[in-house]
Amino acid sequence: MIPATFEHTAPTTIEEVVRALGDGSDETQLLAGGQSLLPVLKLRMADPDLLVDLGRVAGLREIREDGDDLVIGAMATHHAVAADPLIAEHAGVLAQAAASVADPQIRYRGTIGGSLAHADPAGDIAPAVLALEASLELTGPAGTRSVAAGDFFEDYFTTALAEGEVLTAVRVPKHTGWGMHYEKFSQVAQSWAIVAVAAVVQVRDGHLATVRLGMSNMGSTPLRAHRAEEALSGVPLESADVERAAALAGESTEPPTDASGTAEYRRDLAGVLAGRAVAGAAGIA
Ligand SMILES: Cc1cc2nc3c(=O)[nH]c(=O)nc-3n(C[C@H](O)[C@H](O)[C@H](O)COP(=O)(O)OP(=O)(O)OC[C@H]3O[C@@H](n4cnc5c(N)ncnc54)[C@H](O)[C@@H]3O)c2cc1C
Repeated sequence: MIPATFEHTAPTTIEEVVRALGDGSDETQLLAGGQSLLPVLKLRMADPDLLVDLGRVAGLREIREDGDDLVIGAMATHHAVAADPLIAEHAGVLAQAAASVADPQIRYRGTIGGSLAHADPAGDIAPAVLALEASLELTGPAGTRSVAAGDFFEDYFTTALAEGEVLTAVRVPKHTGWGMHYEKFSQVAQSWAIVAVAAVVQVRDGHLATVRLGMSNMGSTPLRAHRAEEALSGVPLESADVERAAALAGESTEPPTDASGTAEYRRDLAGVLAGRAVAGAAGIA
């Protein structure tokens, strides 16, 4: 199918974007890489009057250092995030997660901001952003505010973005020297995760000092595995101990049952993937 008719505007500043969002009716929508929005428009599941295209806004694709943080513009593509040397050095799990999204065509068009704003609980970017305890910068008619990644995802495809707000950047604290690993399990190469786990760990004196785990497809939003994180903290770098504690990752979650697996299967899988992700992050053979 082809989408219903809509107007298109391509502002060059965030101020103009916010004004365009405010000027439009309820049926105004932002367009980033279009990899999630265009299929929705083609199926006529959405019928906006106006698309506000972020593609020409200056600076939104930039990836830069700002003191102890990396600031990743919302229009940075998955390909750019996967290939960026600063992200590889200070937040490598995000690069791994971005490299695992779909196929090269989608990675060249899809953006970090579009992925997070779309808030598909099966997406690859959010688990890494959660495990890195990043924050998201949102700009709207009332100015700019910062929302912790842990407070951003509210429900299926629902976020803390208020009406008229645009996600402009993802601010990631540098995790230089931390261990990180992204473990994605899917039915066929280049497809969505059945479950995925991002691990960010700090090792001290042969033990896991800090462990953070972000998970996808384990509920109505991307989640932290707090129970497993607590159990893993202080554990020696022995694979059996790590596997035992990581197995708690699926506890108290309500993942979906669908053609790819039951909720029970996903809970088991989350435990196994968390064990592999932590072992990979901590360098346990
Ligand atoms: C065949 C296929 C396979 C895929 N496989 C995967 C996969 O394995 N893993 C994965 O993680 N993703 C996957 N995706 C999704 C892909 O990652 C998309 O790039 C992403 O979900 C949306 O990013 P986008 O830039 O294309 O956003 P768009 O499609 O342009 O926008 C998506 C939504 O977010 C809103 N939006 C966009 N940018 C902003 C912003 N800056 N501020 C506020 N709202 C905004 C839009 O209004 C829209 O509602 C797949 C997509 C396709 C088509």
